[in-house]
Amino acid sequence: MHFSALRLDVSDAATRHPYVLVIMQSEVERLLEARAKEVGVRLRRGAEVAGFTQNETGVTVELADGSRVRADYLVGCDGGRSIVRRRAGINFPGTPATMTALLGDVELAEPPAEDIFQERREHGSFSVLSFGPDWYRVLTNEFDHVAGRDEPTTLETLRKALLKIAGTDYGMHSPRWLSRHGDAARQADRYREGRVLLAGDAAHIHFPAGGQGLNTGMQDAVNLGWKLAAVVRGRAPDRLLDTYEAERHPVAARVLQNTRAQTALWRVDDHTSALRDVLGDLIGIDEVRLRFAGAVTATDIRYPVEGTDDLLGRRIPDLDIGHGRVYELLHHTRAVLLDLGGLPPLDAVVTGWADRVDLVRVRPAGGSDLGADAVLIRPDGHVAWVTRAGERPDLGALRTALTTWFGPPAVEMSDS
Ligand SMILES: Cc1cc2nc3c(=O)[nH]c(=O)nc-3n(C[C@H](O)[C@H](O)[C@H](O)COP(=O)(O)OP(=O)(O)OC[C@H]3O[C@@H](n4cnc5c(N)ncnc54)[C@H](O)[C@@H]3O)c2cc1C
Repeated sequence: MHFSALRLDVSDAATRHPYVLVIMQSEVERLLEARAKEVGVRLRRGAEVAGFTQNETGVTVELADGSRVRADYLVGCDGGRSIVRRRAGINFPGTPATMTALLGDVELAEPPAEDIFQERREHGSFSVLSFGPDWYRVLTNEFDHVAGRDEPTTLETLRKALLKIAGTDYGMHSPRWLSRHGDAARQADRYREGRVLLAGDAAHIHFPAGGQGLNTGMQDAVNLGWKLAAVVRGRAPDRLLDTYEAERHPVAARVLQNTRAQTALWRVDDHTSALRDVLGDLIGIDEVRLRFAGAVTATDIRYPVEGTDDLLGRRIPDLDIGHGRVYELLHHTRAVLLDLGGLPPLDAVVTGWADRVDLVRVRPAGGSDLGADAVLIRPDGHVAWVTRAGERPDLGALRTALTTWFGPPAVEMSDS
């Protein structure tokens, strides 16, 4: 990966997938849509939200065609210019654009030899990425120009910018997609107004450095989805929804900071070049490199979950267990109490939550790589309770964690 085009080796990151996988966003959207349909979600295309009103019992959404939809909750996932955010009166403070970035998926008659070619030159920086047998993504960053909203983006605009920065247009032709964006970085000052919530670009926008936007938005949705489902089904109290902002707002705030830092480091003056040299040295130190890698891949997120154990609030690693992997247990999007140490007392506690939590018992040969005898994993993969190998499990703390995240037990049980 890279941090502002400084090489960032993530090959030893704590994941099964320590590499960059280029997947077109349209493909990600196609897969998500197929999955949504599979689980019975009704998608309505072309239904433009014009506004909404809310009271204590629900939200009435007004569509541009004059029709209305009544819902328990409304989640605005309507992008950076979100009408839901504006109508909810939620502010979007931040920093305005200071530069112009152009992007084109094009064919090149004379491409550079490297698959990934990135350079900073006197008039800006540019990248040429090989995306397929015949096509390339060309990106330019101009720091001496902030494009007006109505300025058109054409192949000629991209060619002009590339000629100015790189001195060649690599013989570009046949554009498939052209786009322009700046480095404005803004974040909703709150993610919730009553029964209305925000997720994705509606809640945060930033320069798309390191491909962090979609990840941040999808993780918002994954964090909110199971909580909203529990509240709507009456299984958890409405205040569970407040943990969404508490957990996700700081994550996006950090993404805004690292992308601001990345665009600042792309500038082409002598002082920035010196700063890049210094950072380039630092990033060579393993501890620094891993810190940056954890941040841009968002694998180091730790939500503020009660307790001091380092695993609490973190995403559970996808370890091999028995004949499978931990993440396979999460495919049902239910919470999992994973017993790796053979702890019979867990049965009595979890019975009250059996409709919401799966108790899974596996004894990995040679013990657990996690160093834990049992972990309570939320449906989004984050750890809500842990008992370390060989330690006496704190069943009171387990009961508290279960109540906090999944509501009160269906049947009161004794664990004595
Ligand atoms: C040039 C560029 C390159 C990027 N590259 C990457 C990358 O490599 N990796 C990455 O992770 N991220 C990348 N991003 C960021 C990523 O595209 C966004 O973070 C992501 O699309 C946000 O998803 P979203 O669903 O929140 O919002 P959007 O994708 O903006 O979707 C919002 C949806 O809401 C709809 N909508 C808007 N208003 C209304 C309304 N009133 N009523 C009904 N519907 C409405 C829109 O039609 C749209 O379908 C890039 C962004 C840009 C601009």
